[in-house]
Amino acid sequence: MNDLLLYDKEIVCLNCEKKFKTKRVRASKIVVKKKDSDFCMYYEGEINPYYYEINVCPHCSFAFSASFKSLRPAVRENLRKNYLERAGQVDLCGKREIADALRSFKLALLCGTLADENTFNLGGICLRIAWLNRYLGQKEEEDKYLDKALECYQEVYEKVDITSLPLSEHKLLYLLGELNGRLGRFTETRAWFNILFSKRGIEPALNTLAREQWDEYKTAMANAL
Ligand SMILES: [Zn+2]
Repeated sequence: MNDLLLYDKEIVCLNCEKKFKTKRVRASKIVVKKKDSDFCMYYEGEINPYYYEINVCPHCSFAFSASFKSLRPAVRENLRKNYLERAGQVDLCGKREIADALRSFKLALLCGTLADENTFNLGGICLRIAWLNRYLGQKEEEDKYLDKALECYQEVYEKVDITSLPLSEHKLLYLLGELNGRLGRFTETRAWFNILFSKRGIEPALNTLAREQWDEYKTAMANAL
C-alpha cells in the first residue's frame, strides 16, 4: 500500500547530464499529522516526502535538489577533485529509509557547497538534516545542523536580495528568532523577534505563532536565570 505513494520520476543529472529515474512521493496522497514551530512536518505512515527531495545520480553520484542551478564550468573542476572522483557508486534511487535520506541530504550539502550553490538552498538542506535527526531523537546532531542552518539564513538576511527568495522576509525573520530560541540563544531570539514585530503587515498566523514562541522563550529565559 505504502509503495503506491511512490512513483518514478525521470531526472537529468546537472553534472553528467545523463538521465536516471528516482522515487518521488505523490503529494496528493500525503497526510500531515503535525507541524513543529520551525515548520518541521510529521506525516502519517512511513513514507515521508522529505526522504525523496534529493536526487542522487547513479552514474556520477552528484546529489542535488530541484532548486539547484546548473553548474558553471568554474565549479566543475572543484567538484570533480573534491567529491566525484572519490564518491564511488551511490544507489539512492529506490525506496529510502531515514538513514538513506540523511545520506542523500549530506551528499547534497557537500555537492552544493563545492558547486557554490546559493546559501538559502544550503540552509534548507541543513534544516532538513536537523529535522531528520529530530525524528531520530539525536539532539546533538539536530542542534549542530540547526546551527548551520541559522548561519546560512543569517547570511541570507544580511547579503541576499530577499525579494528573490521563495520565502517572505517576515518568515525568514521568524526562523532566525525561532532557531536561536531552539538553541537557547535567547538574546538573539529577542533581537530577531523585535525586528519582526517592528514590521507592518505580518501575516496573522505567523504573527500569532511568533508571539506564542516569544512568550515561551521569555519564560525559558527567566527560568535559566
Ligand atoms: Zn550524473
